[in-house]
Amino acid sequence: MRVDGTPRNTARLYKDSVQKLSHPSPNFGERKHGGKPDFVVLHYTAMVDAGAACRTLCNPETEVSAHYLISETGQVHSLVDENMRAWHAGVGSWGNVTDVNSHSIGIELANDGFSPFANKLMNALEDLLAAILERWDIPPHRVIAHSDLAPGRKIDPGPRFDWQRLAQENLAIWPNLRHARIEDFQEAACAFGYSPLVDDLTRLQSFRLRFRHGFSGPLDEVDAGLAVDLAERFSIDRLTTAS
Ligand SMILES: [Zn+2]
Repeated sequence: MRVDGTPRNTARLYKDSVQKLSHPSPNFGERKHGGKPDFVVLHYTAMVDAGAACRTLCNPETEVSAHYLISETGQVHSLVDENMRAWHAGVGSWGNVTDVNSHSIGIELANDGFSPFANKLMNALEDLLAAILERWDIPPHRVIAHSDLAPGRKIDPGPRFDWQRLAQENLAIWPNLRHARIEDFQEAACAFGYSPLVDDLTRLQSFRLRFRHGFSGPLDEVDAGLAVDLAERFSIDRLTTAS
């Protein structure tokens, strides 16, 4: 069910039903190594409105883009073809993937980083995600935050973003609350996908930004339990994942 009480259809019923406006961006290239999208990265625009964000994402001088921009009113703007490599992620990694742009679809959400995400925007995101996940056979745990792949560098889509709402629709995931040994946190977080190359505190902060916002104490058994739960259910196979 949606939060407004109307039933949500399945991804299959939503396929091809997303009404899009096309605002082509010149900021893209070919996906490298024959890469196809196998995960989705969510961003916020951190701009005053979707119009300003659209101008930035379509300006060749900025050299940034995304596949989609969703406005505050739920209008989906198609900026870059899904088959192409949009320039949205920058430096970062998830699991074994270091060329994130070649392996992902980027969605920018019109939000200033402080305000709640508009309900119409969230409805449109759910429709768009359902179609993308089905089209490319992407599982819900492969829908991640920009902050997940760029710990210490990016914080979007930020603490106001409702991951649990997406998880309820099977369009993202949410960990089960449990306890584990604190010494198991870092390995579990890396097994889930966070970079092993950042320092432990930065990794913890990035993890909490998404899964335990507002908690600022030292690493504890709840952090560890959440990470172990994610690692057990969604562990990255670092031997076979392409970069
Ligand atoms: Zn971002």
